Formats: sequence, structure tokens, C-alpha cells
Amino acid sequence: MTASDPTPPIVMVEHLSKTYHGRYSLADRLTGRPRSDVQAVRDVSLQIGRGEVLGLIGESGCGKSTLGRAILRLHEPSAGKVWFDGVDVTALDDAGMKAMRRRMQIIFQDPFASLNPRRTVAEIIGLPLKLHNLAKDPADLREKVMAIADKVGLNTGQLDRYPHQFSGGQRQRIGIARALISHPEFIVCDEPVSALDVSIQAQIIQLLLDLKKEMGLTYLFISHDISVIGYLSDRVAVMYLGEIVEQGPVDSVLSRPRHPYTQSLMSAVPEVDRPGHQHRVQLSGDLPSPINPPSGCKFHTRCPLAIDICRQIAPVTEKVGADHTAACHRLHENLSLLEDVPA
Ligand code: SF4
Repeated sequence: MTASDPTPPIVMVEHLSKTYHGRYSLADRLTGRPRSDVQAVRDVSLQIGRGEVLGLIGESGCGKSTLGRAILRLHEPSAGKVWFDGVDVTALDDAGMKAMRRRMQIIFQDPFASLNPRRTVAEIIGLPLKLHNLAKDPADLREKVMAIADKVGLNTGQLDRYPHQFSGGQRQRIGIARALISHPEFIVCDEPVSALDVSIQAQIIQLLLDLKKEMGLTYLFISHDISVIGYLSDRVAVMYLGEIVEQGPVDSVLSRPRHPYTQSLMSAVPEVDRPGHQHRVQLSGDLPSPINPPSGCKFHTRCPLAIDICRQIAPVTEKVGADHTAACHRLHENLSLLEDVPA
């Protein structure tokens, strides 16, 4: 999607935040200790065009999954708006949200944990049709389950078995079938291949791409693996400690990353290595706690380019190219961790 694209985005997220409130115990009250809130997602704005794959990349614990769930209102947003196909999802009542869920689905990271072990695969896949009254009768339900199972590459002769009787890759196909059976338009793919063997990962990624093309789907694809994001995304959003620090077309962001955090992620990808340069940028320390995030730029505790202002003032998001934005105080100094670290 570009600024000149006349097609309105199917998903628009405006200033979305999600805070989890810690428990405020009697001891906290007596000692005057403040409640430890976790701001998992902070002031995120993004758009996803119809038929597009937006890749969401960041380290474990940075808030990617929370953002995906908040967009679907599986976790209620604390602030901000989500628009889907022109409808303000955040303003829908329970009945409106139930109807909207048919159009917005999720594929989870851990296929085993997300499948009810007491139900057969046919029952699991067919459940959304029952919930949304989309099957005329049991025969119609069975026929639709068989059709989607076949589409995702499951053996339709094994649908009366239980999830534990399937391999990891097959279980993820079951999760995909369950997400697709109600013919949604938008899917949050929450690290759908992270728990799978590398050889199976490629099969599932190809399946998701084939289904997207065939069914006209739109994906928010969440991953901590920048190679996977680079392979299947049209656009990419880079997340650090609950905030989007860089966003734009995948070619632009991954070939010319402007934010030092994106540059550090890229430095771990073998393809960007060039002779004569040492491009590995080791980030020092761990992701800071979202309970007590750093002041100013949240990346300053690990950024090799940090200067005084970074510790005091949060940078604003600026345009750095066509449909490409980043938030860093040093964007205009043409600094790159990928180029400026000699071997
Ligand atoms: Fe690094 Fe400062 Fe830019 Fe943050 S604002 S990414 S600390 S240079």
C-alpha cells in the first residue's frame, strides 16, 4: 500500500495502546508502593491494505502478540481505535463483535496448545461454522470441514482423530483450517511457524501464501525471524518495547533500514554481509522491562548511537522515504551500523 493507492486500507490502527494493570495488594497500599502496570503496546498506528501482508518484527516480549490480539479485541485495547473495512471495531458491542470475528481470525504460534485435546479434528475445524450458524445441517457442516481440510493439505480420512495423533506441521494445518473455514478476510498470523521444524516451516509459509492468493486474504504476520518477514511481507513494521520504531515497504525497510534497532536486526541476517566489513551488531543487554521502561528513546540503553538527547526526549516518527517512516533523533546524520563498523 502506498500513499497514492486509491484503495482504502482494510485495517487501520490509530494510537492503539494496551496496558495490563498489576494487582494492587494490601501490602502495596500500606507501603505506598505504586501498582506495577505493564504498558505492553504504546501509541501504535499502522495500516494494512486489502490483500497485503504486513510483517511485524521484534524480539520476544516486545508486544507483537499483544498488538495482534488487541487489534482483534481478544485483549481489550486500553486506548486508541481499530477500523476494519470502515467499521470502528473498538466501538462494537458483543453482538457486533461476534459478527466481526467471522471476518477477522487468528492463527496461533503453538498449534498443540490452541487445539482442544478432547475434541476431534473435525469438531475443532467445524466449531466456527457452528458459532456463526454458517452450516445448514450436520451434512453441510461435514462437507465444509472436508473441503477446507483438503484445501490446507490434511488427510480427510483422519478428521475423526484427536490433535495428539497429528504431527506439529499437521496440527498447524488444523489451526489454519479452523481459522479459514468461516471465510475471513483478515488473519493475524501470530508466529505460526516458530514452533515448527525448519523443513516444515517452509511448507506452512508456502501454504499461507497460496491460501492468501486463492482466498484474497490480508495478513498481519508476526515473527521474530527477519528472514521469514522479508520473504513473505509486502510491508514491515518494526516493534521495540511496545512501540513501532520503523515502518514501510519491505524492500525499503530491509535494504535501507534507518532505525538503529532495525539495522541491528538486519546485521544478524547473513545475506547482508559484505566483504571487508563486520556487520554483526551485538545488542548489549536484554529488552528492558515494560514495567519500568527507559526514559526518552526506549532503545537508548542498547543503542550504539545513543547521545544525550536520546536519554531525555522520545523521538518523533518522521517520513524517511515513500511510505517509509522511522523514529530516531539521528535519522538525518546518515549513520548506519551496517556500514560504519569496519572489520
Ligand atoms: Fe539510538 Fe538515539 Fe536513535 Fe534512539 S533516538 S535509536 S537511542 S540514536
